[in-house]
Amino acid sequence: MDSSEFRDRGKEMVDYIADYMDTLSLRRVTPEVEPGYLRELLPSRAPRKGEDFTVIMKDVERAIMPGITHWQHPNFHAYFPAGNSYPSILGDMLSAAIGCIGFSWAASPACTELEILTLDWVGKMIGLPSMFLHESGIGGGVIQGSASECILVALLAARHTAMRQLKNRFPFIEDGLLLSKLVAYSSKLAHSCVEKAGMIGFVKMRQLDVDDKYSLRGQVLDNAIEEDRRLGLIPFFVCGTLGTTACCSFDNIQEIGEVCAKENVWLHVDAAYAGNAMICPEFQHLLKGIENANSLNFNTNKWLQVNFDCSLMWVKDNEALTTALTVDPLYLQHKHGDKAIDFRHWGIPLSRRFRAIKLWFVIRTYGLEGLQHRIREHVRLAKLFKKLVETDDRFEIMGDVTMGLVCFRLQGPNAVTQKLLKVVNDSGKLHMVPALINEHYVIRFAICAEMADDKDIYFAWDVIRSFATDLLMYQRDSNRDTEKESSESISEEDDEVFPEFDSELIFDNQRCNMQRARLRRSLFLKMVSDPKSYNPRVLKSLHIDNRRHRSQSLGGGSSKYHQTGDYYFGTPV
Ligand code: PLP
Repeated sequence: MDSSEFRDRGKEMVDYIADYMDTLSLRRVTPEVEPGYLRELLPSRAPRKGEDFTVIMKDVERAIMPGITHWQHPNFHAYFPAGNSYPSILGDMLSAAIGCIGFSWAASPACTELEILTLDWVGKMIGLPSMFLHESGIGGGVIQGSASECILVALLAARHTAMRQLKNRFPFIEDGLLLSKLVAYSSKLAHSCVEKAGMIGFVKMRQLDVDDKYSLRGQVLDNAIEEDRRLGLIPFFVCGTLGTTACCSFDNIQEIGEVCAKENVWLHVDAAYAGNAMICPEFQHLLKGIENANSLNFNTNKWLQVNFDCSLMWVKDNEALTTALTVDPLYLQHKHGDKAIDFRHWGIPLSRRFRAIKLWFVIRTYGLEGLQHRIREHVRLAKLFKKLVETDDRFEIMGDVTMGLVCFRLQGPNAVTQKLLKVVNDSGKLHMVPALINEHYVIRFAICAEMADDKDIYFAWDVIRSFATDLLMYQRDSNRDTEKESSESISEEDDEVFPEFDSELIFDNQRCNMQRARLRRSLFLKMVSDPKSYNPRVLKSLHIDNRRHRSQSLGGGSSKYHQTGDYYFGTPV
């Protein structure tokens, strides 16, 4: 393809994208395809000769679009939002065109310097203390590929710092022995990537209980640290969460920060979703105490209208990060000259995309006020949805609605809510995913679409309410018919084991939709990324696991730590 054809195809592509966005609501939000569908539609070998681009684009509509879950759809309310906007798409286009690999300042100076500048901009937008900024000369921010990466990098830096201190104190003790003593902490509502970081980092990970607001408190952490020190363990890392995935609750950063400072423990704050809202002063109180944290991350690709990937991470002491991830001893010897302008040692990969350009485009196009407006709109819509749910006493809201996420459930056994979510998702009218909060199965309703408005919320509530009416009517009828709870009805026992769904469940006024969407595919193929929060098989084994743990702990044999060797999906014991 030469530049002349690129001009034509590029313009067509821009039209295609704009049409896609403008007509998105006419499509079904989730696909109706079976696993493996694409093999039927595309050849099993690559073409020998190049093909016309128009033919390729026809296949996009024929084969690719039918298998897309439309994350930008106004009826997509699953997970957290996947940020997007036209300036961000344009920024990605330009970044792809420049095509540089900005691993060091010299490899593409603007790529590194724009990242430094924009990270300082955003740091100031969310009110970070100056020690986290590049301007300070001590701290600074970097763009990583994901929150998981930020958390892993933070844990590795903390582990490195702790090991260095321990080696100084105990120079003749084996690294392996010292490592086996390290213990990290998070709340039990932390994202599974925190456990994963512990697993990769080969350290014990202890998940702590939360209070009635689903928040990790200082005292709980303090007690756990004290208990572990008594056992001869070495606490070295805490990951606090601002905006948990399950229910958008907030750990008390002020309290846990004080404990970490007192105990010389690295505090990382994972604010993957909620961090974006800190650009609004009314949310910045949630960052209170952040000066005691060592690092922080949030994903602008969730809620700041920037498309994936653009995870921002700040550290207070960039030296700890650099030393932990540097393999080149000469660099460490000579780093003082250019350390503030070299990201080579701040992440796992060497190669880095020019991601700062899309962030810069977005911030400049909307300005702080425009970005604040979008966040506030989403929060307003979440509160509107909450109000609607509260008008119906068959439902209950779980947790506070602080940002753009509402967790709700039908009163009664978990299986009722589970079935409601299943039928709503199968209808293709909406897409939502569940979470488990204190053994309650809840449906998460996230405001996701960039331009979400009131009518999307009323539509969603109408769909949910009418499916609930059908479900509860069906349940009543089937109970009456069988005069006892049959296997098709929802019993308390279902709650215990989260059984597979009843594939024959059909509701009168949804018969057509339901027949089309019969349960040929598992609902859970399209669920949240954390298997313990939705997968019935995992839940079942979790249940068995927990029971085993409970009985073991009665015998005194249980471990409260998650470690590589005996990793399990479980709640803290
Ligand atoms: N932390 C929290 C609180 C999240 O909600 C998520 C994902 O939604 C993650 C971490 C993982 O994010 P990523 O996919 O960027 O690794």
